[in-house]
Formats: sequence, structure tokens, C-alpha cells
Amino acid sequence: MGLKENIKLSKSFIGPEEIDSVVEILKKGYFGMGPEVKLFEEELSRFFGREAICVNTGTSALQLALQSIGVGEGDEVLVQSLTYVACFQAISATGATPIACDVEPNTLTICLTDAKRKISPKTKAIMPVHYAGNPGCLEDIYLFGKQHNLRIVEDASHSFGSIYQGKLIGSMGDVCCISLDGIKNITSGEGGLILLDNSLTANKLRDIRLLGVEGDSAKRAAGLRSWNFDVSEQGWRYHMSDIMAAIGRAQLKKFSLLKTQRQFLATRYKQLLDQNHVRLNDADYSLIVPHIFAIRVNPMYRDRLVVHLENDHNISVGLHYRPNHLLTFYKDNQDNSTLSVTEEVYRSIITLPLHPGMTEGQVEFICGVVNNYLHAEV
Ligand SMILES: *Cc1c(COP(=O)(O)O)cnc(C)c1O
Repeated sequence: MGLKENIKLSKSFIGPEEIDSVVEILKKGYFGMGPEVKLFEEELSRFFGREAICVNTGTSALQLALQSIGVGEGDEVLVQSLTYVACFQAISATGATPIACDVEPNTLTICLTDAKRKISPKTKAIMPVHYAGNPGCLEDIYLFGKQHNLRIVEDASHSFGSIYQGKLIGSMGDVCCISLDGIKNITSGEGGLILLDNSLTANKLRDIRLLGVEGDSAKRAAGLRSWNFDVSEQGWRYHMSDIMAAIGRAQLKKFSLLKTQRQFLATRYKQLLDQNHVRLNDADYSLIVPHIFAIRVNPMYRDRLVVHLENDHNISVGLHYRPNHLLTFYKDNQDNSTLSVTEEVYRSIITLPLHPGMTEGQVEFICGVVNNYLHAEV
């Protein structure tokens, strides 16, 4: 028997629409930030019903969002340890300190009991991560923010398209950041998005993504450049290019297909995996658009199951995430004593393949491999 074709953990879903759009931009000969980014922002602004600012990555979206609300040197930001290092890097890039918090066992979203313990006079903001697409109890997070006078920067990188209490994630709340990198729910190749209501802050963000050059975003959208300008704060070269925006616009047009496919495949996983041996996160896939599908198994055979999936069946799996409080750069000054759920999850979690190009048959096959393995182990 030959080796089966590899099932990728994640993959972007690109068709002729994206390819044609990029070719159009290449033919125009200007690849920087210009009219195409403006059009993408207008479409996103209509989609979410508020200000939309595009940048080059999700990480820079988080960093700029924090800067725009005044988070910087000497401040602290509460964030779950179980997240991509992008969150921690975005916080430390502003000069602030990320404070690692534990997660809720059912959703793997930030544990407010632990967050409360870790509030100090320096705490300025909380960064909830909508793990695997689920915002968890977002209402409680907002209540918590209000009670403790904290700003909220949502990391909705996993949850583009998810619905919470009848509303689209990103369409409400304080400041919401979304990654549009190659494997996320929608992609612009690489990219990031900041969503908020305050138009003054939005304009500030439009400046600081372009080295702080005042009014440069509007000029570029009109095909002009700034020569005589002022700069009044630290800025960054974090803008999106027209090539990326062209990919993003094509993806946004077919988002309902991407969404339906992700929800369908995750629902099949949930139906087929033997939940006597596999623990799943709470998730209603009629509302949540899942970015990843993570399962938890007994840590005694987690690593062997990973090897079995990858080596025996050519199924690529992932680990979301190595907790940030274990990383050399962040491990000092963290209170590890309250991160027990995080550490337990780290020992038991496996991310199974999930992307819109997968077939139902592939999900059935993966579930069969996992179930058979676990039945033989116990
Ligand atoms: C992907 C991701 C990011 C960072 O986005 P990039 O666009 O890759 O910089 C941030 N947070 C989470 C939870 C992510 O999954």
C-alpha cells in the first residue's frame, strides 16, 4: 500500500477569483497601499457596520489597537497564556507587559476568576482571544472590563463570521482585531483588520499604520502622495498593499461558502468523534465559524496518537498552543500557580485538520483513525 495523500492541517481556499483580482492589480503597476485597500475597507466597513482599518498582519493590528487606546510603557494587559505568541508580542511591542491568565476548561477562553486575581494598578486592558472561533462569555468579559475600568481589545483572529447574541463578532464592543493571514477564516494573503466605532481613534490608526504621516491614508486612496506632512507620534510601516486587498476582496465575496464549509466539517467532527474518549470544546456550529478544530485526549497517549496520525496515516496535526508563560521571553514575572487548566490542556490537546477545501470523507477518515486508536488504547 502506498502512502496516502497528506491531509493538511490548514490551507487557504483560493480560486480563479483571487488569481484574476491579483493579476488586475499587477497590470495596474502599483502594488502599495492605494485605491484597492480603500475599497476593501469600505466593504469591510459595510460588513461589520463600523470603522474598518486594514494593516499588514493580525499581530500589527493588535499592537496598533493597543497603542491607539493609550497602552504603553509600564502598563499591563491581561491575556490568556493559551494563545498564539502574536498576542504577547503585540503587547510587549507597545512597551506594556502581558500578564498570563488561565482559561475556562470548556471554551479555552480567558478565565475571569484568574484575570481578577491578576489585576494591578498598572492594568490597562484585557485581550480576550476567541479561541477556535468561540468568543466564550463575551458579555461577562465586557462587564468585567466595566467594573475594573479596563479597555477591551478582542483578538477575533479565529472568529471571523461568528455570531454572538445575534450579532456578528467584530460589529460591536470596544476594539476588535482580526488576522487575515493565509490560513484564517478569510485571507488577504497576509493581513490584519481593526474594527471600532470611534472615528477619531480610527483616523489615528490610519496615520500610525503609515509611519504617523498625517492624512497619508486618504491621499494614497486617491492615488496621491504626501510630500509636506507632519508626524506627531510613533508610527509604523504596517499598511496593507493593494495586492493583498485584492485577495481579501475576492475572499469576502465568497465568505458564505467558506463559512458554511467550516461549519459543516466541524459539525461532522463533533458527530463522529467518540466523546467517551475525546473531549471537545463547547461550540454551536450554527453560530460559530471555527478556525481550528482542537480535541483533548488522555495525556498518557496524546503524543503516540500524534505520531500515529502523522506517520501512519499522513494526517497533519497541530498544537494550539504552547502556553506563552513557558516561553523564555515571557516566563519571568508570571504567576504560574494559577495556570493549571492551561498546562493540563497543553498536555492533552491536538488540533485536527480543518479548512474549506477538505471533504466530508476526509473528516470521516480522520475520525475513524482517532476513534480506532483510542478504542485500542483503553
Ligand atoms: C493568527 C493569529 C494572530 C496573528 O495574526 P497574523 O496575521 O499571523 O499576524 C493573532 N492571534 C491569534 C489567536 C491568531 O491565531
